[in-house]
Amino acid sequence: MRTLYTFHGGIHPPSNKAQSTRTAIAHAPLPSRLVVPLHQHAGETAKPVVQAGDHVLKGQLIGMPDGFVSSAVHAPTSGTIAAVDMQLIAHPSGLPNLCATLIPDGKDEWVALKPVDFRDHSSAELQHLLRMAGVVGLGGAAFPSDVKLRIGKQKITTLILNGAECEPYITCDDMMMRERAAEIVQGAEILRFMLDADEVLYGVEDNKPEAIAALRQAIKESGHVLQQDKRQEAVAIPTIYPGGSAKQLIRVLTGLEVPSGKLPTDIGVQCFNVATAYSVYRALAHGEPLLSRIVTITGNVREARNYEALIGTPIAELVALSEALPDTNGYIMGGPMMGFALHGMSGPGPAVHVPMVKATNCIIAASAKLFPAPQPAMPCIRCTRCVEVCPADLQPQDLYWFAQSKEFGRAQVFSLFDCIECGACSYVCPSHIPLVQYYRFAKSEIRAREHDKQLADQARVRHEFHEQRLEREKREKADKLAAKEKAAQAAKLSSTSPQQQAELAELAASRAHIREVAQSEVEHTTERTGE
Ligand code: SF4
Ligand code: SF4
Repeated sequence: MRTLYTFHGGIHPPSNKAQSTRTAIAHAPLPSRLVVPLHQHAGETAKPVVQAGDHVLKGQLIGMPDGFVSSAVHAPTSGTIAAVDMQLIAHPSGLPNLCATLIPDGKDEWVALKPVDFRDHSSAELQHLLRMAGVVGLGGAAFPSDVKLRIGKQKITTLILNGAECEPYITCDDMMMRERAAEIVQGAEILRFMLDADEVLYGVEDNKPEAIAALRQAIKESGHVLQQDKRQEAVAIPTIYPGGSAKQLIRVLTGLEVPSGKLPTDIGVQCFNVATAYSVYRALAHGEPLLSRIVTITGNVREARNYEALIGTPIAELVALSEALPDTNGYIMGGPMMGFALHGMSGPGPAVHVPMVKATNCIIAASAKLFPAPQPAMPCIRCTRCVEVCPADLQPQDLYWFAQSKEFGRAQVFSLFDCIECGACSYVCPSHIPLVQYYRFAKSEIRAREHDKQLADQARVRHEFHEQRLEREKREKADKLAAKEKAAQAAKLSSTSPQQQAELAELAASRAHIREVAQSEVEHTTERTGE
């Protein structure tokens, strides 16, 4: 039996997962319109390659990756592009972003798909295919997967497939592991091949026995695709929040610590979400770009459930499938600990067409009963409960103090950027201080200042370069002038008779002599006067 390790802190909030795992994953119907954001992952916005009026097929590229950290975006079904413009999207900022609006034609007609056998390709080729298939991390951050696979010369010992799903309410990974374990295992093998990892460990919390059993069965049955010396193992880990956070999961499964400011690859480990492994498999073995995902609709609804829905589906239409109850007063995207309130959506009815994106793992309909209004914050009483639960081993009360007093330098010294914003500290704080909000504020201020400093440094370097260029141009001009004068003199000399040349030479020598005499007189006078 595998030895497991523990991490510092953690909490046990009510899981609220049972209500959305009673029924199988359902397919959400084709919506009347899809709004597909061209920026739905970390990094650069994809460049639109379609315009209003274009007819597109399902899976056709509509956004080309633009930059190192960027990923492709595709038409989720066949139809006509109605607009490429700024639309409100599901983001904490509540700001609009560039989107392609697609009116489906109802035929759901695919482009020609090009499946590949991963064993016939190099890791670099497969990375490119995943980038062009729009595969990003589906655990929440939506970081382009191809970038995480570019590890250079680092040796990866362990590939971790994250199926912990520790946050309350969310069950999309649980249901996917129960129903699609075989595809996840095949996707994990592709990732293992690309990283040349020695082993694959699935970390699944022990409150998901069906998922663990399904993965174990799939691993057993997949023996024919796995190399004999490379093994996969589904490991049941203790249920504790935030056990699914990458650093904590690595610690539990391997006993290794990711040092502050370092990446898991620095210690020979890489992590992917189980749903990402599924998408990797679909993208390569079936040639299907990432067009849909599983999303949990739960909370204050008549029937909580998981749906497979197309990216760009209006969230209001998804919520309608589960019927939000009349006292619904808002919606949260993600879980109650790390998610955010959706702008422009309140009440049980569909307010606006904010679309779901690749990062939409869960929508929680909120009500005053489920999520009572936060109590007013009181002064910190230095009880250190936040310290006891912090999984990053930080001093949350000190970080709060530094953030509040805008002592950002000291907050950094106290490892502010190691905070994973899990909210465990806020959850236990008896003074109801919204601690995570303070940390987010401090981080954004520090980033803004660093950005400003970077701009100022760039401006200074540009100015210095400009000055140097002017100096160089001045020198070059003077050199050119001198060369020109010399050439003119030489030309003059060559055009005169030998006698004139002799006279000119005599004249030049006499001028030189006068200059020398004058110079020595100046020096003599200077010596005498001591000036
Ligand atoms: S839990 Fe709240 S009151 Fe207690 S030390 Fe931390 S911040 Fe202060
Ligand atoms: S939010 Fe940050 S400071 Fe608070 S418990 Fe989580 S990691 Fe620690």
